[in-house]
Amino acid sequence: MKIKQTAGREQLGDFAPAFAHLNDDVLFGEVWNEPALDIKTKCIVTVVSLMAGGITDSSLRYHLENAKKNGVTKEEIAAIITHCTMYAGWPKGWAVFRLAKEVWTDAGPAPTQAEKYRNELMFPIGEKNPYGDYFTGQSYLAPVSTEQVPVFNVTFEPGCRNHYHIHHAKSGGGQMLICVGGRGYYREEGKAPVEMTEGSVVNIPAGVKHWHGAAPDSWFSHLAIEVPGEGTSTEWCEPVTDEEYSELV
Ligand code: MN
Repeated sequence: MKIKQTAGREQLGDFAPAFAHLNDDVLFGEVWNEPALDIKTKCIVTVVSLMAGGITDSSLRYHLENAKKNGVTKEEIAAIITHCTMYAGWPKGWAVFRLAKEVWTDAGPAPTQAEKYRNELMFPIGEKNPYGDYFTGQSYLAPVSTEQVPVFNVTFEPGCRNHYHIHHAKSGGGQMLICVGGRGYYREEGKAPVEMTEGSVVNIPAGVKHWHGAAPDSWFSHLAIEVPGEGTSTEWCEPVTDEEYSELV
């Protein structure tokens, strides 16, 4: 990525054309594009130079923002300023830290609903569900335990639900659901839907046709526990129609 700068000509082009040329074409056009140093290192050298020179005005702020943009982390800038303070002087350290704190704590883009949900849930959400063909909408699957009793965390985006299905078994078997986040539903065919919120537990005997999924306006996660049994298998049936699903509240 080539560095380009026009601030010199914009601000001083009429008043000091030679200075504007040096700023835009030489400093930014050549020196900032010098290949021997990567851009992040140049940003650090610049911040340190301004700090050492006692320049703590808007130009330092610009270069702090530039440093952040080019990958300098909060931990790194704190170490850089601390290090420079030992050589350049204590008051400069304070002045630069005040600016750096503003730049590095500036709220980034607001987290999406998905990011917020992912951060708050105590279990991992995992990857996109490989059984997605049997779901309407987007779901995710994360193994919680793959030993003894298999346990998976299944997460549904708002509006997502799985198709009607049956957990078959010759003996034992079936499935347990424990809601660990959001709000959703379990429904046995022909019965009223059962709302599930954090802590809700549903026991699904083998052979019962049912579906489970999120409420229309909420993410939903449940642990799915495979109850041990003999000859277990899952039979996937028809999707839950929008008409049936829209009757949920
Ligand atoms: Mn099930």
